[in-house]
Amino acid sequence: MIPYGRQDISEADIQAVVDVLSCDFLTQGPEVPGFEQAVARYCDARHAIAVNSATSALHLACLALQVGPRDCVWTSPITFVATANCALHCGAAVDFVDIDPGTCNLSVQRLAEKLEVAKRYNRLPKVVIPVHFGGQACDMAAIHDLGNRFGFRIIEDASHAIGGRYRGEPVGNGRYSDITVFSFHPVKLITTAEGGMALTNDHRLARRMRLLRSHGTTRDAADMTRPPDGPWYYQQIDVGFNYRMTDLQAALGSSQLKRLDEFVARRHDIAERYDECVANLPVATLSQCPDSHSARHLYVIRLKLSEIESTHRNIYDAMRTAGVGVNVHYIPLHLQPYYTQLGFVAGQYPEAERYYSEALTLPIYAALTVSEQTYVCSALSECLGRGRKHA
Ligand SMILES: *Cc1c(COP(=O)(O)O)cnc(C)c1O
Repeated sequence: MIPYGRQDISEADIQAVVDVLSCDFLTQGPEVPGFEQAVARYCDARHAIAVNSATSALHLACLALQVGPRDCVWTSPITFVATANCALHCGAAVDFVDIDPGTCNLSVQRLAEKLEVAKRYNRLPKVVIPVHFGGQACDMAAIHDLGNRFGFRIIEDASHAIGGRYRGEPVGNGRYSDITVFSFHPVKLITTAEGGMALTNDHRLARRMRLLRSHGTTRDAADMTRPPDGPWYYQQIDVGFNYRMTDLQAALGSSQLKRLDEFVARRHDIAERYDECVANLPVATLSQCPDSHSARHLYVIRLKLSEIESTHRNIYDAMRTAGVGVNVHYIPLHLQPYYTQLGFVAGQYPEAERYYSEALTLPIYAALTVSEQTYVCSALSECLGRGRKHA
């Protein structure tokens, strides 16, 4: 089966991890700050906090922005469940903003409309979490303007977008947000097996995320309520978690980061070949905005079901039977039982629901070969052709 995404591990990556195994520290050694500095430099951000997943990074980001039980956090319904769970973990409520049908990113127009209504009812969100779907940055300048006007903070869920750019600058530089989060899960752009990172230019947010990453304890005398008892001393000044990344993971991340630009370039080549191959098929692709240079994490097609005799489900099954591990990203969050039980209903976010009924993710990853891709294209064309409606 050709998967929809997978890691690309080089000999240098393996050596980097093996080298750490013979060092004094497997965790909390020099590799984690080294990886943090490398990503911060790559993204042109002041602070980077490495953690054990993007899920943890999103949680720390919400806590640093003081999201609590009286607050509401808004995001897109077309994302992974973790994007919304971070708010729930803080006791906050979650609400959604429908997607733009072209990019499948959160619609800025819907956001602006929803904010106007929320303002009248005094129900404005504390935080909005735009998700850079498939690696293409949201319209961050516009979201940032709305943030200033309506007083909400912004966390970019850039789990798909490290290596991408917005208006010529790296995603993660924080020009239009408070905190940016990356994921290093193996299907993402670069991997640390499990892992994530939060970037910010605000030293107070950075300090708070660092503190909560490791139990709420500090060894920094400047953060302590009284002078240290001695060199062994640490103080617990808050309640935190063990969200630490290991040195093994960080060494892998630093090694992978060196190839990130090459990975993104390969993904663009693959996407261009797909664009050509699907041009004559009854499918649509996501529109790409000139402001955004996508990291091309996902290659999503939307089936034009009115021109196809088969169904979404049958095409999915036929592709899988042909050995192509297509996938569906994502099931709209508001249709998950957790949310329907809270009162969300079908029909509430029509663009997200329409998208879900026709979306298919094709394999895209740096190590995908041209011949594998040619096979994916012919399998797709056959699956669609077989069921194509004749006029
Ligand atoms: C993968 C992903 C996450 C979660 O990342 P983990 O590192 O697995 O915790 C969150 N949001 C989005 C949009 C993702 O794709």
